[in-house]
Amino acid sequence: MERVDVIVIGSGQGGVPFAVDRAKRGERVVLFDRGRLGGSCVNYGCTPSKAFLAAAHTAGRARRGEELGVRGDVHVDFGATMERVRAVRDEWMDGTEKKVAAARIRVVRAEASFAGERIVSAGGEQFEAPLILIDTGTSPIVPHVPGLAGTPYMTNLDFFDQRALPKRLLVMGGGYIGLELGQGMARCGSEVHVIDSNSRVLSREEPDASEALTQGLLADGITLHVGRKALEIRHDGAFEMKLDDGSTLQADALLVAVGRRPNTDALKADKSGIALDKRGFIGIDARFATSCEGVYAIGDVAGQPAFTHVSWEDHRRLEDILAGGVRTRDDRVLAYSTYTEPQVARVGMTVDEAKKTGRDVRAVTLPLAEIARATEWGQSIGFFRLVVDRHSEKILGATMVGYETAELIHVILAHMEAGSTWRVLERSVHVHPTYAEGLPSLARLLL
Ligand SMILES: Cc1cc2nc3c(=O)[nH]c(=O)nc-3n(C[C@H](O)[C@H](O)[C@H](O)COP(=O)(O)OP(=O)(O)OC[C@H]3O[C@@H](n4cnc5c(N)ncnc54)[C@H](O)[C@@H]3O)c2cc1C
Repeated sequence: MERVDVIVIGSGQGGVPFAVDRAKRGERVVLFDRGRLGGSCVNYGCTPSKAFLAAAHTAGRARRGEELGVRGDVHVDFGATMERVRAVRDEWMDGTEKKVAAARIRVVRAEASFAGERIVSAGGEQFEAPLILIDTGTSPIVPHVPGLAGTPYMTNLDFFDQRALPKRLLVMGGGYIGLELGQGMARCGSEVHVIDSNSRVLSREEPDASEALTQGLLADGITLHVGRKALEIRHDGAFEMKLDDGSTLQADALLVAVGRRPNTDALKADKSGIALDKRGFIGIDARFATSCEGVYAIGDVAGQPAFTHVSWEDHRRLEDILAGGVRTRDDRVLAYSTYTEPQVARVGMTVDEAKKTGRDVRAVTLPLAEIARATEWGQSIGFFRLVVDRHSEKILGATMVGYETAELIHVILAHMEAGSTWRVLERSVHVHPTYAEGLPSLARLLL
């Protein structure tokens, strides 16, 4: 067994920068990964999905040109699109490899597990360290539907390896992964059916956000089977799925995107006295500490909001904590977006979440149809909503559904980080005609 200064398990979005920072300080660092360096975001998540959506949404927007009087046939060369997606993905993975090599980090490419207190082994090698970081992320859940196991279904792990466009695609799961990839495939030319047992897509968001997105999905020709469960799946050359309303769907491909489970089984965390929570995620306190001294966990596997920017920021917070600072796991304004069209972007709290904290809350909503830029460009599905505290007048959160709202949400995020009131937003003069111009108009509804 070899003694080193730091062990990092998982080369995800927080694990790599943490390992690099430590190695640059001259510490001896070992990084374990059982898969491609860079983790889910680079290889199976954000990077390939957004490179894929670049093509799909370009086609979708071009087709919508008809409404503006622009005519022309739009065809997606799916093979070429997916080649580019893989090239972008590989470039980012190579970048991670180079960063890790330049920092002289020792990489063990094997599945790691604990062999004792602060002792980790993999691939026939064993290391002990006073500081260990777990950043092992999550994997797709495959539900127990009779007949599903053994069929050639896809998850996000192999979706980006597709070479030919399936004529018909079934998507199990109406969350953000299923909807982004499902809408993307529809825009590439597949006939897409989305099946979700919840009564609406994106069921964690506000009902009118789901409604606006539903309008966008239907406009792309997607068929939604909400409030429906798959009872049985068969594959005999093609997929056949029986639903609980008695109908049967047929398709050439099936994407499973019903949720994520933490990558903790292989870790044998109990051997190092590391407790898991009820759902199997690594249990951490407000300062990322597990129940074993010297062992910390960040990112998806620690039950943090499952986003790349969260995992990345977690590593910075942990560095601050280890240096004696005061940061905690959730001292931040959280924002995120779904990259469908329209996009659904969120920051801070919804009205209901804010009310649950006992605050006296005010909320205002501006339909996109009332914003000049949106009507000029024919992009008027959606709305902006602002949630504020009646007494302090501070901004508590926002939901923005519409064109490129993932960018716009940062205006509100910046105001929240700065602790400003809605009156600061209201008196800001935004450029005409932009979508952002709608934000002071939104705040003006509070006057
Ligand atoms: C299709 C899709 C699209 C997404 N799009 C976005 C987006 O647009 N924006 C966004 O913010 N987030 C997005 N996400 C979520 C984002 O990818 C994750 O939140 C992020 O990657 C989590 O990073 P992490 O550091 O927690 O772990 P991960 O990036 O998951 O890395 C974990 C690493 O640990 C390794 N590992 C696991 N167990 C072991 C073990 N026992 N031994 C050794 N290695 C192990 C894995 O191989 C992996 O490399 C998307 C996810 C998916 C699936």
